[in-house]
Amino acid sequence: MGSRRAARIGRWLFPSLVAACAGGLAAGLVEGIAADLLLTLAGAGYVALIVVPVGFMASVVVRGIVSAWRQDDALALIERDGSTPRLAGWLVTAAIGGVLFVLAMHHGTRLLLGTIELQPNKLGFAAALLAVGSGGLLLAISVPSARLFSGLAQRLERRWQRRGRGVLLTPRRSIAAVVVLVSGLVAVIWLGFVGPQLAAVDLSVLRVPAVVLVVHAVVPAVLGRLRRRVIIGCSLIVGCLGVGAVATFVRFERPSLALDVWGEGAVAGFAIEKIFGLDAIRDDVTMEYIRPQPKAGEDHPDIVLVTIDTVRADRTPPYGGPARMPALADLARRGSVFTWAFAPSNVTRRSLPTIAIGLLPNEVRGRTVGWGLRVDPRHVMVAERLRAGGYDTAGFMCCPAVWAPHLRTGLSRGLEHFVVEADGANLVEHANRWVTARRSSARSPAFVWMHLIEPHNWTVGRGVSRSNLDDRALYDRSLTRADELLDRFLQRVATHLPRAVIIVTADHGEGLGDHGQLYHSTDLYNSQLRVPLVIAGPGIANQTLAEVVSSVDLVPTIMDLAGFHVPDRVSGRSLADMLRGERAARPDGGVAFAQMIIDRSNRRQMAAVVRGRWKLIQSGGRGELYDIYRDPDEQTNLIGVHPDVAGQLRELVVDQAAQAVTLSAWRLSGAAR
Ligand SMILES: [Zn+2]
Repeated sequence: MGSRRAARIGRWLFPSLVAACAGGLAAGLVEGIAADLLLTLAGAGYVALIVVPVGFMASVVVRGIVSAWRQDDALALIERDGSTPRLAGWLVTAAIGGVLFVLAMHHGTRLLLGTIELQPNKLGFAAALLAVGSGGLLLAISVPSARLFSGLAQRLERRWQRRGRGVLLTPRRSIAAVVVLVSGLVAVIWLGFVGPQLAAVDLSVLRVPAVVLVVHAVVPAVLGRLRRRVIIGCSLIVGCLGVGAVATFVRFERPSLALDVWGEGAVAGFAIEKIFGLDAIRDDVTMEYIRPQPKAGEDHPDIVLVTIDTVRADRTPPYGGPARMPALADLARRGSVFTWAFAPSNVTRRSLPTIAIGLLPNEVRGRTVGWGLRVDPRHVMVAERLRAGGYDTAGFMCCPAVWAPHLRTGLSRGLEHFVVEADGANLVEHANRWVTARRSSARSPAFVWMHLIEPHNWTVGRGVSRSNLDDRALYDRSLTRADELLDRFLQRVATHLPRAVIIVTADHGEGLGDHGQLYHSTDLYNSQLRVPLVIAGPGIANQTLAEVVSSVDLVPTIMDLAGFHVPDRVSGRSLADMLRGERAARPDGGVAFAQMIIDRSNRRQMAAVVRGRWKLIQSGGRGELYDIYRDPDEQTNLIGVHPDVAGQLRELVVDQAAQAVTLSAWRLSGAAR
């Protein structure tokens, strides 16, 4: 008896299992067929590893509920005659409720953004309240609404049956009608309201769920009619097991290939992260090939990099700004100041990867996580290169929102000693302790990276002191606070790493009311892009360098100053020759690119390029041209006066974008496995 029962259960589960396997294989194919067969099979395998169990469980639950409805009148959603007016009423209510809920969240969040100025913690709290509030309200009106629609459906059903035409609202027809209704509603709302506000939206993430849904709807019905259903079903299951085995094999025997799969597909990437762990795979890849080549006869100085969040160059002393920043001013008096240094983007999550990797934002691959960017594990960090070259490396970072280890952005790779601490004073204390402690035993040079956050939070307390301090004065005070921390750190560096090369810069600027923007992440004007860049140390001349440079030049420059050849596959150029006074700055040479990329806080795609005095900002078909040497605040758009210059710069933007596409197709070549 027991075995017969087991067989019955098995027969009942079989269609779900086959549907799940078919869904997994179909989703794997949808996500990508690569030129490499192993890559294709492994990719399908990773997708299947996540899609099959989820699909199987969902299918069992849904089929279970449906058959319970069929057998049991207790739920009373199906009438004795087989019609389903009550089911239809509830489905319509659920559909309309869902749409209303989404609309409420959408408009509510926009409203909140306007009133609480994009402070993530406040927004998170308010959004949760909004969700609970609107959800509760909808729940409260759901019963009368369902009754109303059930009543309407019942009248329709009765009228239909009175004419002797059998049952109108069979369960299948009810569900189909609601699906059509919801699709229509969603299409109208999307095309009419949401779409135009979001501009370009990447809908490719919906492909896999859509395929899985369709397969699950079709397979059990089709399977039942097939003569060789057991053979076909079993082949699908075996196929799934096969690609799953390939995926597992690739993870352990060819880890660099697994990283390629992560870079190519979102669902496969998700599976890899969840099941195997991205960092664990990266650790298994032999990175021997990143070891930098030392330049003959050059020594390897200590290197200290301090990035301060949200520092606008023209507020700081080396750039004639009014903020009190004695430490930065002193560093500028001892070293080189780049008059025209540009961030590669206007937001931390796009700028920091450029500083760490040496690629422009549109060349860096990755996925947004929180306020950060989880970069493609195939990218190599400058700290990894220096560590491979014999450096001791340490990172002291301000802010969990971007640096927290659980975000696994990959940016801290290569930083052997790594501290995330929100309080600036404590952070500097950690760094100073490390710098002091390593002196006694140090045989190898040090690379220390510190990221300070203070100016990013300049509005804290703004509400209170608004009356006697304007925005700029408040902002300048935050710069002074950051400078005090910088001072405390650089004093310790001067004692314990006296021959260090010191680099101070920022990830982006701040609007402060220019071009109608108070903060950043909104446009590519100089207020948000032009950053301080001050470099001092042994062999570095004391000078002002009026050549356009970019943060993307930092990796090649750091490697060069550290006594190594500039690595392949970085986009910037070394500024070391200028710094050492071996070549003069060229005011009309030098190019800096910047990009705003659509993601969680960036609503528009935009690109900018600076070459010498000319700067072009391109947004869709609209271009603006400025002579930044004469007009650094970008008040006079000269695109009508110099269409030829604008045309040349536009070509630069187009060429760079084309190169970025090629670059993003690279592999971790050189990796042993
Ligand atoms: Zn920032």
